[in-house]
Amino acid sequence: MPGPPKLPTISLLPKNDGANGWSRILPPRAPKPALQGDARADWVVVGAGFAGLAAARRLAENRPGEAIALVEAHEVGENASGRNSGFAIDVPHNAASTDGRLEAPRRNMRLARAAIGELERQVTSHRIACDWTRAGKYHAAVSARGAQETLSPFASDLDALGEPYRWLDAKALTGEIGSPAYHAAVYTPGCVLMNPAALTRGLADTLPANVTLHEHTPVTGVSYENGVALTTAQGSLRAPRMILAVNGLAPEFGFFNGRLLSFSLQASLTRPLDGDERRALGGKDDWGLTPANAYVSTTMRFTKERRILIRHGVAYRPSLRTSEIQRLAARAVHEERLRQRFPMLPKVTIEYTWTGYVCLSRNRAPGFGRVAANVWSAVCQNGVGVTGGTASGMLAADMACAIDNPLIADMQALGVPERLPPRPFLDWGARLRGRFDLVRHRHER
Ligand SMILES: Cc1cc2nc3c(=O)[nH]c(=O)nc-3n(C[C@H](O)[C@H](O)[C@H](O)COP(=O)(O)OP(=O)(O)OC[C@H]3O[C@@H](n4cnc5c(N)ncnc54)[C@H](O)[C@@H]3O)c2cc1C
Repeated sequence: MPGPPKLPTISLLPKNDGANGWSRILPPRAPKPALQGDARADWVVVGAGFAGLAAARRLAENRPGEAIALVEAHEVGENASGRNSGFAIDVPHNAASTDGRLEAPRRNMRLARAAIGELERQVTSHRIACDWTRAGKYHAAVSARGAQETLSPFASDLDALGEPYRWLDAKALTGEIGSPAYHAAVYTPGCVLMNPAALTRGLADTLPANVTLHEHTPVTGVSYENGVALTTAQGSLRAPRMILAVNGLAPEFGFFNGRLLSFSLQASLTRPLDGDERRALGGKDDWGLTPANAYVSTTMRFTKERRILIRHGVAYRPSLRTSEIQRLAARAVHEERLRQRFPMLPKVTIEYTWTGYVCLSRNRAPGFGRVAANVWSAVCQNGVGVTGGTASGMLAADMACAIDNPLIADMQALGVPERLPPRPFLDWGARLRGRFDLVRHRHER
């Protein structure tokens, strides 16, 4: 284990564009008060996404007599965890192994299912109203080539794993989702759909009594001498131990420098369909579809509120900043996708378009585990953070409390984020790779 890192001041803070449709369709929520003055706790967790919320809850359960402070730069429900597409995915859509080895998908499924089980327990016991449904999901290809290159190997691996699924041709899929735009899909039943802002708000507002959540509390400085000392916008916080759950911003705290990649993703929600439009669409209520190629194609959902979600557009974005022009350009593409996928809904308009950031590593390994004597990490969820963040937060807390949980070994077996090439070579490579993928998989547009 490396010693405590040399300390940078925290120069990059997360930014909220205030455009997240999932939270804007909910009633207003009063955030918990910001940290003011100097405070102490037994533990500090930084970041209140799925990872930080799970870590704080599990710490509180493991150590009911100890005080846990959870600090969040903005508001719960506004981060990546509250603005994603709302799929809690149990079978990774890249379960298809290139080498026929099924160990990694099995491990991922154990972790994801433990996370879904934990989230479902909280949703049920606290009656969190977030439209939580075990709707399953369609993994769909637009072209015959996409079906052959992606769906067929996925189905073969599901066979080998003994996982249930259905193969749908174009006609069968149209019968279930209304859209005539797809060539085929593989349906797996274990995925949960929900409103992610409502879920994360619900998780935050039902934390155990020994957790104090401080929203609007950006950490602007950190020192690892004699425990952990954080400087925040209006105060300071000292604790002997910390769990870091800040996703792609872990390098600001001195960890995983040169190992994490940040990408922006954009999503839109339409206005609710009226009765005639609902009939014209046909298909089932409440479904979700992930694309055979996540970079080139489009994630879609039809929500319980009769809105259509469109998630399209991935860009390498180390600055974690997106301009208004880029947001509006994404919205124009989403509009085009909406018309193309749902020609029977010519008048349905988009109400909200927002940007969020995902953190990936080159080898798809999480930034998990003990990273200094008194610091544990639950960052870098590689695009599946509803389950990945929840699992890594819970397990980081168990590890920090020396609880023997066999899932910790599953998480550790996923590896550690590989070192990336130095910038600017990394930037050139990442952008070039993005363009190459767009061309290579253009049949999936
Ligand atoms: C549009 C979109 C669609 C997606 N769809 C899905 C999906 O359907 N299913 C899925 O599983 N995943 C999806 N993802 C990915 C998923 O949202 C993320 O992987 C996940 O939310 C990461 O959770 P987290 O808790 O690690 O990080 P985050 O949710 O990013 O939380 C980290 C928190 O740390 C806080 N923080 C950072 N720096 C500081 C600081 N200095 N001081 C205080 N707080 C700080 C941030 O404000 C933030 O709230 C999607 C992402 C996007 C953007």
